Amino acid sequence: CGIVGYVGPQQAQGVVIEGLRRLEYRGYDSAGIALVVDGELASDKRAGKLANLEKAVAASPLPPSTTGIGHTRWATHGAPNDVNAHPHTGGARRVALVHNGIIENFAELRDRIEADDHVMLSETDTEVAAQLLELQVESGIDLTTAMQRVCRQLEGAFTLVAIDSHDPSRVVAARRNSPLVVGIGEGENFLGSDVAAFIEHTREAMELGQDQVVTITRDGVEVTDFDGNPSEGKRYHVTWDLSA
Ligand code: GLU
Repeated sequence: CGIVGYVGPQQAQGVVIEGLRRLEYRGYDSAGIALVVDGELASDKRAGKLANLEKAVAASPLPPSTTGIGHTRWATHGAPNDVNAHPHTGGARRVALVHNGIIENFAELRDRIEADDHVMLSETDTEVAAQLLELQVESGIDLTTAMQRVCRQLEGAFTLVAIDSHDPSRVVAARRNSPLVVGIGEGENFLGSDVAAFIEHTREAMELGQDQVVTITRDGVEVTDFDGNPSEGKRYHVTWDLSA
């Protein structure tokens, strides 16, 4: 339902949780966060209010990180509990992924993944995308190319945002029939399901078009289509009044 992504010099945990708070108005039933920490993922996810997640990370803090993603979930497939909350990972816990929308062909993809002896951990449609993405990066390709390949297999409506614990330099996102906006900062960049996710940090935005993949690093934003061809988003300046 609400999505935030961040890469830059700031502590990602604070940026992500603050972004999720800004997106709370959309409604949700659980919340989660994942960070890249020294070649591994650190994550926490909780059913219920964002305050539950905040309490959990206050009691047992995640290590420092400047690359992260977060999600508030509105469950469509699977009960609203801790396990089904996003981010989801593959079996090796290398890639973390959050998702808005519905992956219509998830049952068929899940059967294929399970036939390959991978164990699904949740009841969500989302997890198939996390599992497929992780299998791609484990085969040796970068997260951007992996995202393009996975998106070509998905049907339905999705905004996806993912991190690879072996590559703290980038956060990769994609969209089809569901919104995705980049927040363009200086030496940092943001992703959001809408501009509220990053409005406190930058008003320079880029709206992604249908079937596009975007890679953000500290200094760059690169857009392609699902086949990897260079593409472009639509740049604009956010004029909203924050106090409204
Ligand atoms: N279909 C996904 C799920 O049920 C994502 C829901 C959402 O958009 O928050 O977990």
